[in-house]
Amino acid sequence: MNGARTAAAPGPGARDAGLRPATGDALDKRIAATVRPDIRAMTAYPVPSASQGIKLDAMECPYPLPDAVRDDIARALRDTALNRYPAADNGELTLALRQAFDIPAQSGLLFGNGSDELIHLIVQSCCQPGDTVLSPWPSFVYFDMAARFDHARFVGVPLTADLQLDLPAMLRAIDQHRPKVVFLALPNNPTGGLWPDAAVQAIVDAAPGLVVLDEAYQAFAGHTWMPRLPHLPQAVVLRTVSKIGLAGLRFGYLAGDPAWISQIDKVRPPYNINVLTQAALRTVLRHKAVLDEQAAHLRAGRAALASGLAALPNVTAYPSAGNFVLARFSGKPGGNAVHLALKTRKILVKNFSDAHPLLADCLRISVGTPDENRAVLDALQDILS
Ligand code: PMP
Repeated sequence: MNGARTAAAPGPGARDAGLRPATGDALDKRIAATVRPDIRAMTAYPVPSASQGIKLDAMECPYPLPDAVRDDIARALRDTALNRYPAADNGELTLALRQAFDIPAQSGLLFGNGSDELIHLIVQSCCQPGDTVLSPWPSFVYFDMAARFDHARFVGVPLTADLQLDLPAMLRAIDQHRPKVVFLALPNNPTGGLWPDAAVQAIVDAAPGLVVLDEAYQAFAGHTWMPRLPHLPQAVVLRTVSKIGLAGLRFGYLAGDPAWISQIDKVRPPYNINVLTQAALRTVLRHKAVLDEQAAHLRAGRAALASGLAALPNVTAYPSAGNFVLARFSGKPGGNAVHLALKTRKILVKNFSDAHPLLADCLRISVGTPDENRAVLDALQDILS
C-alpha cells in the first residue's frame, strides 16, 4: 500500500494542534457534512515504518537487486523522457511480460499501479451500488476495502477452524448472494493456504459473474492457473511484481479474455503506469533469472522458518505456499504480547490477533534472509521461554 495514503504532509490543512488554523471547528463541520460517513468512520490502511530493524510485515523480498541490474536500470531511467505522458502503446513491455510470465497469447492484459489498483478497477467496472463482492474470509483485506470504497457490498465466507476453504459454504453463499465478483487469493493471504484446484474450479463453475484468481504469491507456490486461462472464460488472473522483489515499482497485471479486459480498461485512469516504472520493469525483466533465484531462496527460507516456528512451545505454524508463515501463539504470552515483544526488539511482523476471530493470537511473518529468519526465531524462543 502507498504510504502517502496515511501520512499527510504538514501544510495549510495540517491537523497538528499548533498548525491548525482558527477555522478548525468550521472546517470539521464542513468535512462532516461533505465526506462520506463510512469513510470518516474508517482508519486508513496502516503502513508502519521500520527504518531500523528487521521488516517482516509486508511480504517484501528482502534481497536488493544486484549492482549490474541496478546499473542497467539507472541507464534506462536516464534515457526516459519525463516531459511526455506515458505512451498509449506499451507493446514492448507487454511482450516482455508475456514472455517472462508465460501469459497465453489469447489473453488480454491490463496494467495497474499495483494490483490493488486493479482490484478497484474490477469492482468499479462490475458493481453497481449494492452489488455483492464475495471472498473466502479472512483473506486480503483490500478485497473488502475496495468493495466498500466502490459502494459494493462485501460478503466474506468464513474459512474452517483450521483455516481451510469451506467449499460447501462458498457454494451456498454464491447461490444466495449471486456475487458480481468473487476474489480468490491463491495462495491466500494471510493464512498461506493454496485452495485445491477442484474447489477453485467448482467456484468458477458456480459463480454467476467474474472470478478473480489473485496469484500475488504465485512465485512461491509453484502453481498457477495462467495456462488454463483460455479455457476459463469466467475467470481472470491477477498478479503483482511486488512480492518478487519489486514492491517499490507499484505494478500489477490482469490477464483474461480480451472481452473482460476491454471493459475493465474503460475505468482505468489514463496514464496510470508512469514512465519510470515502465522503463525499470522492462529492464528488470531482461534479468528475470535474478528474480527467480531470489524466489527460490525465499521458498527454502520458508521451510526453515516454518519448521523453526512449529518447534516453539504452544505455536501452530500453518502450511504456507506464500513467502510468509502464519503462526498462532496459543499459550502465554499470546499474539498481542508476542507482537509487542518483537517490536521492542525492532522486529516488525503483522499482528492479526484482533483482526478476525479465526485469527486470534495469529502473527504473519514474512520470510526474510536466512539471518533475519534466525533472528526472529531466536527472539521468539527468548520471548516464549
Ligand atoms: N493481492 C494479494 C493477495 C495481496 O496479498 C496483495 C498485497 N499484500 C496484493 C494483491 C496487492 O499487491 P500490490 O498492490 O503490491 O500489487
